[in-house]
This record gives sequence, structure tokens and C-alpha cells, in this order.
Amino acid sequence: MKLLYNALIYTQDPLHPTESAILIDRERIVAVGEANNLLPQYPNAEKQNMGGRIILPGLTDAHLHLKHYSLGLQKIDCETDTKEECLRRVAERIEKAKPGEWILGHGWNQNVWGNWPTAAELDVVAPNNPVYLTAKSLHASWANTAALKLATITAQTSDPHNGRIQRDAKGNATGVLLESAMELVGHTIPEPTLHEIASAMEKAQAILWKMGLTGVHDFDRRDSFMALQQLHGQGKLKLRVLKNLPVELLDQAHALGLGAGFGDDWLRIGSIKAFMDGALGPHTAAMFQPYIGEESNRGILNMDGEELFEHGRKAAQVGLAMTVHAIGDRANHEVLNAYEQLRNYEKENHLPALRHRIEHVQVIHPDDVARLGKMNIIASMQPIHATSDMLMADAFWGERSRLAYAMKTQLGYGARLALGSDAPVESPNPFRGIHAAVTRRRADGSPSVEGWYPEQRLSMAEALEGYTLGPAYAANMESRLGRLAPNYLADLIVLEASQDPFTCNADDLLTMQSSATMVGGEWVYTSVTENGA
Ligand SMILES: [Zn+2]
Repeated sequence: MKLLYNALIYTQDPLHPTESAILIDRERIVAVGEANNLLPQYPNAEKQNMGGRIILPGLTDAHLHLKHYSLGLQKIDCETDTKEECLRRVAERIEKAKPGEWILGHGWNQNVWGNWPTAAELDVVAPNNPVYLTAKSLHASWANTAALKLATITAQTSDPHNGRIQRDAKGNATGVLLESAMELVGHTIPEPTLHEIASAMEKAQAILWKMGLTGVHDFDRRDSFMALQQLHGQGKLKLRVLKNLPVELLDQAHALGLGAGFGDDWLRIGSIKAFMDGALGPHTAAMFQPYIGEESNRGILNMDGEELFEHGRKAAQVGLAMTVHAIGDRANHEVLNAYEQLRNYEKENHLPALRHRIEHVQVIHPDDVARLGKMNIIASMQPIHATSDMLMADAFWGERSRLAYAMKTQLGYGARLALGSDAPVESPNPFRGIHAAVTRRRADGSPSVEGWYPEQRLSMAEALEGYTLGPAYAANMESRLGRLAPNYLADLIVLEASQDPFTCNADDLLTMQSSATMVGGEWVYTSVTENGA
């Protein structure tokens, strides 16, 4: 048994919102209370003086792509002020690389560097290994000669549809590939092995603990699932993972009778993921009214509510909930129509009301705004997208943005929030998400002190619930995850005493991180060697 005392514990338990001591037996919490009461009762417990530090339930990111995020961390960081620094990093990586091994990187920007880079520049530091570095925009990539050779790109290769191979005066490829031409090299890069994915995830896990995360809802696919199973089998998975399945596999899941919750407290099946529309950036989110400045563009709707209902009905038969990507107001409307039918279907067939969710709910029509709460649909939202997308939303949706990432409104109508990051699109750092949720400001302070549509700001308690109890509810685990109370899983994070999120300056959230993380009763990360026991 472990007794952590002399702490300020925010329990998320309405009966005891704050306490100073917590007793843990193996993976579960036994009691939360006052040290004076607990100490004499459990004289043999291993005592740890927390020195007045803050304890919160472990945080969960309710939407990320674990494989892509983990593999991304392995790439060279090319977001450098100068091209020379980027080349130096490539040279450093080359030193440790095996012959012929692909060297991957991401993040460069020709506007920052002042000119386009060339294959010849890369060849100097990487004469033998193929190198492929994607631009921060993801609309261009930079390859060396070895990579161009493997992709058999020569002066004779013609530009693909919607793409361009940058060329010199003689027609030879310079090393920069634009748009669809990126794939010419991209396709030749071997897929990472299962072992490579698992080992990347293991490293990523340690970074997530430090950020304060003890759980994730993963939206990557088969090889992500397989790598997670491998880690779990080896006893190395120390994050609570909810695994969602793509709708293309619904028939197989249905044939198998694979239902939500199959697995265990570490790795379990979540729901069926479908896409209703595109995104705001490429103007493919499905809208009722056109995009500003594009009279005929209302985005793209992948399917209508009827078709989605058919998927949902099939999923419900094996106890799988639906989780549907919906960005535009029209897409959200169609999903809600399908969910309305699905709720009726559940009732008529005496099926349990499943934990259906909508991913993003980026903009919703005023007539639909109350429907999530009314039907008990989970709003899985990404607070940091609200601020990263605000300028685009204002420009192309205008006044409709009043109900963009309308988290407070959703809470007001009784919807549950499950908050996340969509990493690697954004950093999975939950404190950055909490900052965006409570300020509706970017890290640089824009757009204003009040924030973007400030009426949508959440309180700290609401934001924290969105990263704890909300995701736990979405995973059907709210009876044992998301708060610090007897019988709950001992997943918690420790913050320095000076980092109380409830009393600190909101901008201090941007640099907040866990100083110790416990998952299942085990300290998996700690920055302090002495806890002063
Ligand atoms: Zn996603």
C-alpha cells in the first residue's frame, strides 16, 4: 500500500472535492481523506510526503492518432530558422543510420529560409542514405538524389496530375516535390514494421506521461492496434487505451460479435468510426450555406443520415457505439438525424443506450444545438482547434462561427464533453488544450484578452472534467476512471505546488507539466528522485 499525504488533491468527486491524502493498494484507490485519519489506520503503508504538491486525476486525450504521433516523434525536426541547422540535424542522424536506411524529417518552411532547398545540398551530408523531409505545410517535400533514384524520378518523368516536380533549367529534378508529386517518393518509403511502431509508441508513452496524460482514445488503424497489443502483451502498455474501429471493418466486427468494452482496463474496443464530411482547411466540411466567397461550395457530405443509421443499427446489434467525424453544420445535422433514429431503434429493441459520439462538432446550426444533450450524445471536441482555426472560421463561415467549438453551449444543453487534441495535428499536451478551453486564446495571446467568442470559455473545473470524467464516460469506464475516489483506478498526476491550475494565471497553463505520473498504482514517470518520504 502507498499513502500519499500532504498534498492538495482535486478529486473530481463531488462529495469530497479536495483532500490531502490518498491511499492506494496495488492498482486501486482504497481511500481519500485526511492524513490524520488515514495514517493511524494503515500504519504499514509506504508513506510519501508530497510536500504540498497538487494531485489531479490522470488526464485522457479523447481523440488522437497514436501511431502517427509516435512515428512523427522519430522524425528529424526540420522546423529550424536556417537551412544549415536542418542540414546539420540530418548529418547528425546519418551518423547513426544503417546503410540504405531512410532518413525522414518534417517541418521546414522555404519562406522562413528565404529560398527553396535542393537535393544537392542534402547530398553533401547524405550521399548514400535516401532522405525525405516534408514541409510544415505538408504541401511540399525535399528529397536527396538517393531518394529520387529509388523513386526513379528523372528529367523524363512527367508531372503527376495535381502535382509538380520542381526542375532546373535543364529539366532535372531539383529535389523539391509539390502536392501529389510528393507521393512519387512517399510511396517508395517502406511501411514501418510492427516492431518499429511499437517501439515508437513506447517512447511516445513516456512523453505523454510527462504531459500529464494517462489515457488516450486512439483513432489509428490495424497496425496501431497490433502494436498496442504487442506492447500490452509485454506488460509495457501503461496508458489506458480505447481503440476505435474504422467503419470499413464494421462487417467483420459484426460477424465476429465484437462489442464495445472487449479487452481490459488497458486496451479495450471503443466504437465504430465513420466520416461524415471533410474539413474547414480545404473547404470540404459540409455546410447548409456556401462558404463565404464561394457561392457554389457547400463542402462535401460523404453520406446522408439514412446511410449512417444503417451502419449504426448494424453496430448496435453487437453493442458497438458510433463515433462520427462531423465538421460542418450540415454534417452535424445528418449525424444527429441518424442518432435520433438510432436511439429509437435501441428503445424498440430493448438495447442499451450506447455511448455514441460526434468527433469535432466544429460548427453546428442553431436548430441542432440542443440535440446532443437531449439524446445524450458525447461531444468529442478539441479546444486547441478552436483557436488554431478561428481566423479561417471567421473568414469562411463568418457569423456561423458563433456556434463553432461551442463547448459551453453544449454543456449548457446537457451534452458531455470529451476533450482531446487530434495529435499529431496539434500537440497532445492537455494543458495546452485546457488553456485554449478556458481562454479561447492562442499561446501568443491572440485574438484578444477576452478570447474568441468568449461566451464559450469553460471554467477550469469544466475543462478538467472534459479531460477526465468525460473520456471515462465515453469509454464506459466512469465507475472506475476519471476521479480519485475509493475503488477507482489509481491513475494520477502530480503538479508542483506553484502550479495549481485552479489558482494560477491562465497563461501558466501553457508550461504546466506533470512532475510525477502514476498509472495503475505505479509511478511510471517522475522528475524528482526524492519524494521526501
Ligand atoms: Zn483525428
